[in-house]
Amino acid sequence: MPERILIHNADYIYNLAGVSPNSPPQDILIEGNIIAAIGPKLDEKFGDVKTHIDATNKLVFPGFINTHHHLFQAFMRHVPQMQNQRIDQWIAEATSRAKKMDPEAHYWAALSNMAELVLSGATTTTDMLYLYPNQYDHQELFEATIEAAKTIGVRFHPYRGSMSRRDGLFEKDVLEESEKIIEHTRDIVDKFHQKAGDAMVKVGIAPCTIFTNCAYDYEQAAALAIRYDINLQTHLGESKFETRYVLEKYGMTPYQLMESLGWKDSRVSLAHCIEINDEDIDRLAQNHNSVSHCPTSNARSPIGQTGVAPIAKMLQKGVNVSIGVDGSAGNDSSDMLFEMRAARTNQGIPEESTYLDPEQIFYMATEGGAKALRWESNIGRVEQGYCADITIFDIHDSIGHIGAWDKAGSLISCSSKRAETVIINGEIIVSEGRLTKIEERQLIKKATTKWKEAFGK
Ligand SMILES: [Zn+2]
Repeated sequence: MPERILIHNADYIYNLAGVSPNSPPQDILIEGNIIAAIGPKLDEKFGDVKTHIDATNKLVFPGFINTHHHLFQAFMRHVPQMQNQRIDQWIAEATSRAKKMDPEAHYWAALSNMAELVLSGATTTTDMLYLYPNQYDHQELFEATIEAAKTIGVRFHPYRGSMSRRDGLFEKDVLEESEKIIEHTRDIVDKFHQKAGDAMVKVGIAPCTIFTNCAYDYEQAAALAIRYDINLQTHLGESKFETRYVLEKYGMTPYQLMESLGWKDSRVSLAHCIEINDEDIDRLAQNHNSVSHCPTSNARSPIGQTGVAPIAKMLQKGVNVSIGVDGSAGNDSSDMLFEMRAARTNQGIPEESTYLDPEQIFYMATEGGAKALRWESNIGRVEQGYCADITIFDIHDSIGHIGAWDKAGSLISCSSKRAETVIINGEIIVSEGRLTKIEERQLIKKATTKWKEAFGK
């Protein structure tokens, strides 16, 4: 029989349908990697439980889902030269640094970012690795991130990113031939993509942006996505530079261009969408595309743009919105609670909108994320039959939460807090606020040594 974990006496479970605040505390029974039952006093019905977790007065959530990241950028945190650049110059800075990162550096950078994500309650993360310098084996670069996910035990949805456009904006030795990108994408889908609902690795495709990739890459990615039944992602509406570039070259908006290239179904998630007009938001909703909202990196966007995506408007129009922490050269942190807090508060900046409700943010970070990855039948809910991806917070020992009236809401308005327990696919990955599969001091030591070696620090 599969091993059993019993989460006992939970009086707050986010999204547990039909349970009012006055209902008796619930138990959650995990069998193997699945949530087998939810109900009061399950300890009296089911014996042979290996691990008991007391959830009295704690907050139980479906594990958070991070829908946009560039994991390698853990080694590019707070680079002074990248703080206030135009987007094309910023990419050029990232590119010159990426050329110094071998597969081992990618492994330690990915592991560092994944560890931070998991400690902030994430159980699934995406990645978009778009820089494949010529001097390294591309398969080894991609595989390093898969190895990191296995080491820490996080559910992983990497997108095979790319850059190919040869019009002088970027250095040639990081640009790939379109046919090679397609070939490598096929190889990694064959090797790593798992179709099952409880998969630990699913692969997608992601041309980086329309000014780093040619239109052909987008058309081919859309065709591959249908053929292999996988997901698509790209950066869209991130800067005025991009809007001008597409308008001059193609005579349409970036979103209209995406539609014309076949990017118009639920496989598509678009990171940022700051520079997007009302008609395009309508089309986004009609096409069932998702938006990966990255509020912190949006806010630090280059000079001359708003920095706040019109998320409240998108929600009103029925667009599925999820949360992405984005790469650590654009955000510097991979903390899901921090990003959820930014998603809530940044909507208070435009005149016509105000703070979002915590419920809206929790939805984005759980079911919204699952929907963006077309994984909503298996992850994103604490519900019988779903994968056992569960995060538990305890705020009672936190100075930063004294006096909070709405305990759950305080998670994204008061201080950020380490998750007390994180369970992924039925395995306890964080216990009492510490990683279980990695020794944290060793991770810091080894990752820092590799960072110094890569950049001569
Ligand atoms: Zn990004």
